[in-house]
Amino acid sequence: MYVRPPHPQFNRTEAHTCNVVDSDFSQRRRYFSLYDEGCLLDRVGWYSVTPELIANQIAERCRCDTIVDAFCGVGGNAIAFAQTCERVIAIDSDETRLRLARHNAAIYGVADRIEFLLGDFVQFAKTLIGRGGARQGGRVVDVVFLSPPWGGPSYLQGTDSSSPSDSSQHPEFQLSDVTPIHGSELFKLAEHITPNIAYYLPRNTNLQEVSDLVTNAEMGIKGKNKARMVEVEEEWMGEKLKALTCYFGGLVQGQEGLF
Ligand code: SAH
Repeated sequence: MYVRPPHPQFNRTEAHTCNVVDSDFSQRRRYFSLYDEGCLLDRVGWYSVTPELIANQIAERCRCDTIVDAFCGVGGNAIAFAQTCERVIAIDSDETRLRLARHNAAIYGVADRIEFLLGDFVQFAKTLIGRGGARQGGRVVDVVFLSPPWGGPSYLQGTDSSSPSDSSQHPEFQLSDVTPIHGSELFKLAEHITPNIAYYLPRNTNLQEVSDLVTNAEMGIKGKNKARMVEVEEEWMGEKLKALTCYFGGLVQGQEGLF
């Protein structure tokens, strides 16, 4: 991993994992190395799960006591977090996927470290904030991980990921494309829980909008978040840029004091 010359508010790092082959099914062991032990994915899971090596990289960066995986899907990230964090609160609004996540976590032997919650993260966050703090089940939430739906598999239609600069030739992903609410609003909600946020976004995300999250945060929450930098980590698998992970607060290298 190396640090590139920063954008005004960015550290940009690259995380290289492994070589990649094309079809989803041929990548099954890249999604879950224990796939052959019986891991299960539904259709949405197939196109949205974070490949295991990338999930492990993110989990290493998010090492803490209690983490909320706000959109856990079939468990790609939650399983990795369970190996670096004491406690994972894994939320998904889809009952089937939550079950698959629990099933997959059991295969990895980490289901007992994960609290699976069926529900809407937006409601969860509002309830937590309404109770006046970042506590869930008596625990302080240290980190929130956001991997919200990007609007289906077509989010990158027409893009070619062979180099980071390619994304500039294609339509950018806007935070307004995030569901279930605007990506900036989602970030603000998470910010009321903790300044330590990891935001997993498409590789063609508009980085100015990501930068604005920090600026707005500095102006928005009195005395709570003095985060000055966001660190954008490019998640590469071989020749392919798969996604970006944007780190905020104490997750940014050099800002650990904010943790
Ligand atoms: N990181 C996951 C993939 C997440 S895909 C993994 O590696 O497996 C996004 C997930 O968000 C989907 O499973 C979808 O069911 C869930 N989701 C959509 N809206 C939601 C909401 N309002 N609250 C919680 N989960 C939601």
